[in-house]
Amino acid sequence: MALIVQKYGGTSVGNPERIKNVARRVAEYRRRGDKVVVVVSAMSGVTDGLIKMAKEIMPLPSEREMDMLLATGEQTTIALTAIALHSLGVPAVSMTGAQAGIITDGVHTKAKIRNITPKKVHGFLDGGNVVIVAGFQGETPEGQITTLGRGGSDLTAIALAAALKADLCQIYTDVDGVYTADPRIVPTARKLPEVSYDEMLELASLGAKVMQSRSVEFAKKFGVVFEVRSSLNDNPGTIVKEETKNMEDVVIRGVALDKNQAKVTLVAVPDKPGVASRIFKALAEANINVDMIVQNISHGTGTPSTDLSFTVEKADLLKAEKVIASLKAEVGFSQSIATDKIGKLSIVGVGMRSHSGVAAKMFETLAREKVNIDMISTSEIKISVVIDLAKGEQAMRAVHTAFIG
Ligand code: ASP
Ligand code: MG
Repeated sequence: MALIVQKYGGTSVGNPERIKNVARRVAEYRRRGDKVVVVVSAMSGVTDGLIKMAKEIMPLPSEREMDMLLATGEQTTIALTAIALHSLGVPAVSMTGAQAGIITDGVHTKAKIRNITPKKVHGFLDGGNVVIVAGFQGETPEGQITTLGRGGSDLTAIALAAALKADLCQIYTDVDGVYTADPRIVPTARKLPEVSYDEMLELASLGAKVMQSRSVEFAKKFGVVFEVRSSLNDNPGTIVKEETKNMEDVVIRGVALDKNQAKVTLVAVPDKPGVASRIFKALAEANINVDMIVQNISHGTGTPSTDLSFTVEKADLLKAEKVIASLKAEVGFSQSIATDKIGKLSIVGVGMRSHSGVAAKMFETLAREKVNIDMISTSEIKISVVIDLAKGEQAMRAVHTAFIG
């Protein structure tokens, strides 16, 4: 007999019919004798709808009231899921985050879980019930309802699995698992049987969004092994776990293309101490996340100057251009050039640590495709290049073929 935590995302509980399907799957596990804890999200679109209504009333509503409001989305689905299980004759009890013992700090709308005391959850499980817990929410020690940030039901599931010492944690979603690349772009992409936490985090941050990154970080910290799989079929999914020795045998686990980046180049920036600090401090103060930075070798006589390029998210480009324009006189560069016609192509794999020539092979592949490389950045398990957006998908397919097939 195993203790299983299953999380179902918004699409999986998107309408009463789908909720009944979830109940059938849960009932199946329970029939085998397993104890099942179910974590559910709000039905798809509900959280967005609630936010929209609040903003129609007031552009910046109180964050405490937003938590009170958004927590209702998940409260609807826990009750409906319990009712669906009852209709199958399965005893089930729904619980809010607070009732399940999920205690958070007081940072409304993005609270962090402090601790979980799942005594009542255990009690209901021991009584033979399926326990259905509302994802994405908790309460402060003072009893205020909080939410954990968008996509936070993943975190609820992982944290509950850790607190309950569950034997298995399954994240049910609308995709079959984690793929070597987006199958809509790369037809030969295949589902990975397993992936390490670090690879998953890199792939997620590169736009292969399967799960909330914070919950993968949490799983890594507490060693929670979990499986990402589809609620629409019975195919096995992808196991996400600590890196094992044989994972390094594969050079590249996945290829990702981030089309959400934009690039700013400052031409002829004076090359002297304090300049980079001035520029990037101003961007940070405007809450703009800078990803890649490249500075060229300096040239010229007198005070030498250099070109400096960096990337930001597309949504932040206008804000970044404004910040840069405001610095022009003070910093003294000659002009700034911005473009959002770039793509960031990355290869990820823990095998890079023990294989050499990986970067060379990637660059050679791009050269063969006549794709020019604009910027390069590397980490222990990732190589990223900025290229022309128009060639992004073609380059992605070529690199996937070269490394994965
Ligand atoms: N319902 C919340 C959201 O849409 C939490 C979740 O789905 O995980 O962000
Ligand atoms: Mg969701």
